[in-house]
Amino acid sequence: MARVISDACVSCGTCEGECPVGAISQGDGQYVVDADTCIDCGACEAACPTGAISEA
Ligand code: SF4
Ligand code: SF4
Repeated sequence: MARVISDACVSCGTCEGECPVGAISQGDGQYVVDADTCIDCGACEAACPTGAISEA
């Protein structure tokens, strides 16, 4: 499983720097998680100021 980012994302970029495996990148209009790379550690979810990241 992988974390997913909802449309509550305000593209602050905080999560990208928290991800230990580089699974998060800036997508079209919001940040996105590469599900194949994500190891589901939860670091991004804890760091997101808008609660946009959750378990898929
Ligand atoms: S930390 Fe949250 S609001 Fe910021 S870019 Fe990541 S998902 Fe979007
Ligand atoms: S759950 Fe962990 S591995 Fe997956 S995107 Fe978030 S910080 Fe990266």
